[in-house]
Amino acid sequence: MTRKKVDKKYSSQLDDLIRILKNTKFLTNNKVESAFRNIPRHEFVMPSELDRAYYNEPLPIMKGQTISQPGVVSRMTEWLDIKNGQKILEIGTGSGWQTAILSYLVENGIVYSVEIHPELVNFARENLKKLEIDNVHVILDDGSVGYPKTSPYDRIIITAACTEIPLPLFDQLGENGLIIAPVGDSSQSLVVLKKTSEGIIEIKNQSNYVFVPLLGKFGKKG
Ligand code: SAH
Repeated sequence: MTRKKVDKKYSSQLDDLIRILKNTKFLTNNKVESAFRNIPRHEFVMPSELDRAYYNEPLPIMKGQTISQPGVVSRMTEWLDIKNGQKILEIGTGSGWQTAILSYLVENGIVYSVEIHPELVNFARENLKKLEIDNVHVILDDGSVGYPKTSPYDRIIITAACTEIPLPLFDQLGENGLIIAPVGDSSQSLVVLKKTSEGIIEIKNQSNYVFVPLLGKFGKKG
């Protein structure tokens, strides 16, 4: 949980962003709105991008990666339907912004976030530290195989594009758990799957998203 508030300098820009996300229905949930208000995006962007921190756009971070577009983060977060006390696995920490939003919503729960680039692991850890967030573990590893050590998870979120959802992740998802991922080649569909006693069922599927590719063993080929 964070104790810091968004400073005044950015609060009107944040209000504008939230208005846009609400008008376009990318933000419909009060709790997710409160997460956006309490987890300041400008703490997670590069110094050169500070002026653009509250644009509804992805922005470059390091290693050719991006901090995700706010509208995509709000939609994915809403679709994940997070509850207090849950255990979440995130694959692709990047700047740590989405991670921090998850940590806010999970309250007494915990977030395990796996990132493949050491520079981004450091960047995210520093960003999370600034906000005094203590219910997140950022792990340097190939998250395409998941993170079996602390499984099963109530929720799994993949923040990079995969050709198909890596199979090991289904084993690491608890019963009634949800997994969200962008699946596809040059353009991806955002899919939400649920693990039930009868098998995996699709809850949501919406096309036309573009994410950076998932790397690693079960990542994109070629
Ligand atoms: N949501 C993040 C951005 C995610 S971009 C934010 O808002 O900042 C996708 C991230 O996934 C990148 O940081 C990339 O390095 C990471 N990634 C790609 N393949 C990965 C893998 N196999 N394991 C872990 N992280 C991976």
